Amino acid sequence: MAVQPEARPGPDPSRPGGKAARGPSGKGLLFGVRFLFAFLLSRVLVRVLKAFGYSATSLPGVIALKVCPGLISHIGDAYELVVAVTGTNGKTTTANLLAHILRADGYTVAHNTEGANMLNGVAAALLQDCTWTGEPRSRVALIEVDEGSVGRVFAQIKPDLLVVTNYFRDQLDRYFEIDRTAALLLNVVQEISGLKLVMNGDDPLVAAIGHRLGTALYYGAEGELRMPAAAPDSDTAGETRERGYCSLCGGLLQYRYYHYGQLGSYRCSQCSFERPALDFTAFSAKQLSPVSFTISSRFFPGGRLECASSLHGCYNLYNVLAAASASAVLGISGDTICAALPDYQTATGRLESFVLGGRPCTLALIKNPAGLNEVIKTVLVRPGGKSLVIAINDLAADGRDVSWLWDADFEKLCREDIVSVTCAGRRAADMAVRMKYAGLPVERIGVVPDASEALKDLSGRPGEELYVLATYTNLFNYAKLLHKAEKSSPPVEETREKVGRAS
Ligand SMILES: [Zn+2]
Repeated sequence: MAVQPEARPGPDPSRPGGKAARGPSGKGLLFGVRFLFAFLLSRVLVRVLKAFGYSATSLPGVIALKVCPGLISHIGDAYELVVAVTGTNGKTTTANLLAHILRADGYTVAHNTEGANMLNGVAAALLQDCTWTGEPRSRVALIEVDEGSVGRVFAQIKPDLLVVTNYFRDQLDRYFEIDRTAALLLNVVQEISGLKLVMNGDDPLVAAIGHRLGTALYYGAEGELRMPAAAPDSDTAGETRERGYCSLCGGLLQYRYYHYGQLGSYRCSQCSFERPALDFTAFSAKQLSPVSFTISSRFFPGGRLECASSLHGCYNLYNVLAAASASAVLGISGDTICAALPDYQTATGRLESFVLGGRPCTLALIKNPAGLNEVIKTVLVRPGGKSLVIAINDLAADGRDVSWLWDADFEKLCREDIVSVTCAGRRAADMAVRMKYAGLPVERIGVVPDASEALKDLSGRPGEELYVLATYTNLFNYAKLLHKAEKSSPPVEETREKVGRAS
């Protein structure tokens, strides 16, 4: 079947700002001076921060924006193509996968890779990509945008294509209730003309925004997705769900099945709202560990595309599906997408693999109940005994309110093969209380707040595999410590092979 996709938002030379040569003086001498100062300051800061081993993904943006508040739109207007990814979970992996596919297709891409997804992080990434006049070196800007920051970011840089992954409850103290986050996106995207939307049709909260706008393309998965080896713990009954009601009329949603959280096949019991017709349908999920499935879509020659990835878990199927769908909408061929997916390297803490004391150790970011439940399923799928560190912080970037720990399914960790849980971080004691109430025998629970000490404790615990589940502000510290530990770890042949599964 010949494929005739709809108009594609590919690189457009007529884009405002275009790729025409220009200098900062186009906005006046004062702007030019401010921009140049911000540019130089950010470059110096990046060097200094990196020299001292700090991440330079955000602070250079904070300072540069104070000096030159209009810098994002100045640089952003000159890209051929701006692609954005937002939503609660899966943003970083989806955006990184998309950048990986775009590069495989020959594009040069500017990208905020490490989840620095607020205004400062976007500014820092664009400043790293431009010349002193603000001219981008890359053709495409691919920006991951925090769901609470879409208003501020899109006021400065307008995407041509936006991917919306899902909405789960996250950091209540910062985002408040989930309807507010969804309403914010609706208001913001209504103001962007010519925007192509690629949305998760399996999430009723996301699909309701698309329904109101009437112009979205949808991806989703047909047929119930399960982590087979984890059964019966893969049972999604009793899982935390964000939304049982229709966003349009308030009626009860009825589900044919759930994939995870509120994602699944649904229809409203009162109005005509239902899961939309899917433009990209994942089916025949042969396996989820690692992810392998077929996409059915009119965007691919023959109407289908076989996808194999080295990522694991139901939520990563959605990330791969989202990235493949957006790539197809951008006009990238199925062959390029297929070829690029398997050699994608995971970002920091997205089931990143290490070796600790001769055993495989996986580092995973946790930040809200829905994401944590999916990480737990991925842990449980592995055979053999497992010891865990669960590191909970309550700094601004983690969310000050840790009550979400009580909404996650820690009860599922109360099995014989979970041989120990070491609770760490600023809220180690809260985590230990949570594990006790979940029903894990107290002799298997440890409390070691300090990260280095927690890893030492983990090394001494039994089990064939080790895991570190960490909130955002713990994540990079644990990654650093695990890298260091790996260097001094004894050579392991077999362990390496085991570990390769999650990279
Ligand atoms: Zn309804």
